[in-house]
Amino acid sequence: MKKLHTFTLADRAEAGLLKELLEREGVACLIRNEQLFAALGEIPFLECFPELWVVDDEVWPRAKALLENWFKKEEAAAWRCAGCGEDLEGQFGSCWRCGTSRNA
Ligand SMILES: [Zn+2]
Repeated sequence: MKKLHTFTLADRAEAGLLKELLEREGVACLIRNEQLFAALGEIPFLECFPELWVVDDEVWPRAKALLENWFKKEEAAAWRCAGCGEDLEGQFGSCWRCGTSRNA
C-alpha cells in the first residue's frame, strides 16, 4: 500500500470523488482518516486529514498520473470572460454577467 494524496480539510469532499474515479479506472484504493472526522477536536488536528492510498504499489504510478490529470482538468475548467473579464467557474458555459460564450 502506498499513499497517493493527502487532502486538506477544504478539499476533503474530493477524497470520495477521486476514489471513485480511480476505481472506475481499475485502481483499488481506500481513504484513511476519514472516519476520524467524527472525533475532530479530540485528536491532533494534523492527523485528521483524509489520505488516499493505493492498495497495489504497482499501479501507483498510473494512479498518480490519473490524479494529476484530474487536477489539471479541474484547474483548466475555470475561465475568464473575453467580454467583461469576469472570472468564471468551470460549470458556466457562458458569462453570467454579459452573456459572452466561453469559446468566444
Ligand atoms: Zn462577461
